[in-house]
Amino acid sequence: MQLENFGQNQTLQPSAAYTPADEAEVLRILDRHRGQQVRAIGRLHSWSDAILADGVLLDLRRLNAVEFGSEGDQLVATVGAGCQIKRLLKELGSKGATLPSLGLITVQTVAGAISTGTHGSGRHSMSHYVVGVRLARYDSVGGKAVIEEVSEGLALEAARCSLGSLGIILSVRIRCREQYMVEEHFREYPLLSDVLQAQDSFPIQQFYLIPWRWSFLAQHRRETDAARSWHASLYRAYWLVVMDYGLHLLILFLVRWAGIRSLVRITFRSLVSIFVVRNWRVADRSSSMLVMRHDAFRHIEIELFVRRNRLGDALRYAQEVLQVAGGTETALSAENQARVAALGMQEDLAGFHNKHCHHYPICVRRVLPDDTLISMASGAGEDWYAVSFISYVRPNKRAGFLRFAEFMAGSMSRLFEARPHWGKVCPLDPEELRSLYPRFDDFRSTCSTFDPNGVFQNRWTAALLDSDAGMGVSHT
Ligand SMILES: Cc1cc2nc3c(=O)[nH]c(=O)nc-3n(C[C@H](O)[C@H](O)[C@H](O)COP(=O)(O)OP(=O)(O)OC[C@H]3O[C@@H](n4cnc5c(N)ncnc54)[C@H](O)[C@@H]3O)c2cc1C
Repeated sequence: MQLENFGQNQTLQPSAAYTPADEAEVLRILDRHRGQQVRAIGRLHSWSDAILADGVLLDLRRLNAVEFGSEGDQLVATVGAGCQIKRLLKELGSKGATLPSLGLITVQTVAGAISTGTHGSGRHSMSHYVVGVRLARYDSVGGKAVIEEVSEGLALEAARCSLGSLGIILSVRIRCREQYMVEEHFREYPLLSDVLQAQDSFPIQQFYLIPWRWSFLAQHRRETDAARSWHASLYRAYWLVVMDYGLHLLILFLVRWAGIRSLVRITFRSLVSIFVVRNWRVADRSSSMLVMRHDAFRHIEIELFVRRNRLGDALRYAQEVLQVAGGTETALSAENQARVAALGMQEDLAGFHNKHCHHYPICVRRVLPDDTLISMASGAGEDWYAVSFISYVRPNKRAGFLRFAEFMAGSMSRLFEARPHWGKVCPLDPEELRSLYPRFDDFRSTCSTFDPNGVFQNRWTAALLDSDAGMGVSHT
């Protein structure tokens, strides 16, 4: 059996695969395969090695029940691990409720989304709102498969974003909130400082650095008490036809069929912003407004998280690197050249000069600090900003983008302490990744308690959890 992920950059070849109907069947499968490597998958919308599974594979799509309860005056949903976010939103909608945080798409499973720290803009990531996780794992004494409820302490902080490394998530309890309306409009700015200042008025905004035009298009967003705009349906139709499909088909035409770099640059400099209607103020339900059909066309993405105080510097650096990658410049500014030289990465930079012409708006989203051990926004302090780089070239033509991505992750992690999204292209080695998370040792020791023999690891997470310091983790 062979499975491919959404991005077609990962192939899974499990030795056995199951789609269990209920928790009892999950336990029976675990008992049958005791001692073997076991991994669960969601909808394979991650690009990173987190989804790899060579041993026994569990697809929990049939565990998709949704039940509602409360904790104090807070609505809490108990959701089967394999339930897709879109189904959860529908169930919540019927109760006049929604999720506090949403990514751009809703096809992911709840367990898959929290396991990599999936986030939107202006809120914490989804993981932060998790109040309990029901896990299947092996009992450390008898070795039989058992179910454990995790609802507090270090274990909960680890389970909120665990890369599948604590065991098989059966269900997730997550805080919900009342449905709300979002008002949105677009505005273009030449300066980052003006976009960031607007955040006070539009706390859930996101913005895009437009390559080759190098201006900022802000998607100003805030909660509103206003009723749904009479033209909201028209706005939805505009998004679907013009943005989700029209703009993306134009990009596909430019990068996959025309393949002329100067045309890409001219289009982004002059044409792309025409697609965006400025100052059209619309109010609509949050669950419609915050998402798009970003999964309509295959692509690949790396996303790097930096703290607010590094954002300006990081975006200037990214712009310069993209200009070198696209061939319009041969070198970075003197300051950044010196930085890259100090890292010993000049050759890496030269390696993709003129080999990756960036062709997608660079989306920047604010993520509030998460109460987790290792989600990308974990750790108190300043807000995080997730900066994403996307490529739509064909899977067999991605070499230039991947070299660029590797360079960005390698240099930005050291220059700006940038953390790559666990679910997206994540090209740092284990030591580098660990060093970005001050509480990684807590995560590792929690994994070692839940899974002392490392049976719930794949090669990638096993390397991540392994250490010369030896935390008592042994991998079979
Ligand atoms: C088009 C597109 C748009 C995206 N937009 C966003 C966005 O806006 N924001 C964002 O942050 N991310 C975004 N992502 C990334 C995506 O949200 C994450 O990669 C997410 O983890 C994918 O969920 P999934 O259900 O497909 O899980 P998978 O990719 O299949 O699995 C992800 C991880 O979860 C683990 N896992 C899954 N189920 C279980 C279980 N039951 N028990 C234990 N472990 C489990 C897997 O082992 C794996 O480690 C996007 C991805 C795509 C393709």
